[in-house]
Amino acid sequence: VGLMAVLSSIAPSVYLWIEKRTETRLLKDQREYQMTLLQSSAGMTRVREVKKLSNLLVHLITKAKVTHAALFLAQQKDYILKASRHQIVSMLGYCVREDNPIVKRLKERKKPIVAEELRLKKHPDFATTKLLVSLDKIQAAVIIPIFIDTELLGFLSLGTKRSEEIYTQSDLEVFSTLANQAALAIENAMVFEELVKTQAEVVRQETRAATDALTGLLVRRAFLELAEKELKKSHNKNIPYSLLMIDLDYFKEKNDTYGHLVGDAVLQEVASRLHKTLRQGDLLGRFGGEEFILLLPTASADLAHTLAQRLKESVSSAPVQVDGKQLQQTLSIGVASYPQDGDTLVLLIARADEALYKAKKGGRDQVSFASEVKR
Ligand code: GH3
Ligand code: MG
Ligand code: MG
Repeated sequence: VGLMAVLSSIAPSVYLWIEKRTETRLLKDQREYQMTLLQSSAGMTRVREVKKLSNLLVHLITKAKVTHAALFLAQQKDYILKASRHQIVSMLGYCVREDNPIVKRLKERKKPIVAEELRLKKHPDFATTKLLVSLDKIQAAVIIPIFIDTELLGFLSLGTKRSEEIYTQSDLEVFSTLANQAALAIENAMVFEELVKTQAEVVRQETRAATDALTGLLVRRAFLELAEKELKKSHNKNIPYSLLMIDLDYFKEKNDTYGHLVGDAVLQEVASRLHKTLRQGDLLGRFGGEEFILLLPTASADLAHTLAQRLKESVSSAPVQVDGKQLQQTLSIGVASYPQDGDTLVLLIARADEALYKAKKGGRDQVSFASEVKR
């Protein structure tokens, strides 16, 4: 204690003195350090996960000469423990709030906090005492801030040195260098992770908006958008394709006889059977009500004929079971093909609709072709 008192009055020069005494060793150490740092910071820019980066950084520091280390990173306004090593108490997820004396001090002074330096003060003020308590809570002998510009991205909390020496100015510089190199990589990773999260959310929302809640098929607008894109490819390469309009026969009767909910179940089952019959790349949408629209890229009229028959049979071949009832359902299908029936989506839809009307008039439960429609 007596020694401490003496040290306290000459604290700044103590660091200089220790530095001088161990200059040679320190320089050698530091060179080794910096080699490791350079190598690892090069690796860091390739790591895109905040968690991995955090662990890497903390690992690196404890591999050096520190008993334990922890990394806190900003989350909203607070600082959350993201990685720790050899920490006596495990505190992952531990939160240091924005009003914590450590955070306040770092933001004010923008430089490392050394607990020992604070303890050496003869008459610590209230703020310093509070700060020391906070440091003890997270077992920190030294805090290294991590700044991006003027923004406190986080901080490293270091235990004591293994050698039981006090931290020197050089140590602090080395750790600060490391922290700042890591900072850029961490910030990139944070931005990247945020981006991935937002993109996933956009895809989720778009999918929700693009698909019909009852059948899970594309809604009309989404179908038309995707179909237009698909057709551009076909037009460019002069590849045939076919468009089908599919309508449930006498569906109103089902609703009237069994109720709307049973009708819904039939619609779902029909959609599912159609979907199962498709090839990869085929585009199926709910055009509205009990009507479906289907784009068969690369399918000529001949192939479309085969596929349309198969679709029709997928529904008529076995009754739909709802609430123990066996419900027979049939389909009428109209087919139009590029290039013979038209060369735009709108035109083909109109032609397929005409063919569908013909199938209805012809007695339903059948496939008709635009080319058979008298115009
Ligand atoms: P057609 O063979 O001429 O096609 O006769 P249809 O009865 O199938 O045709 P119509 O256009 O007269 O009736 C279609 C019915 O489909 C009317 C409507 O109540 C029903 N419908 C449309 N959308 C839904 C839905 O989402 N759920 C249920 N349960 N019924 C629907
Ligand atoms: Mg119908
Ligand atoms: Mg209809």
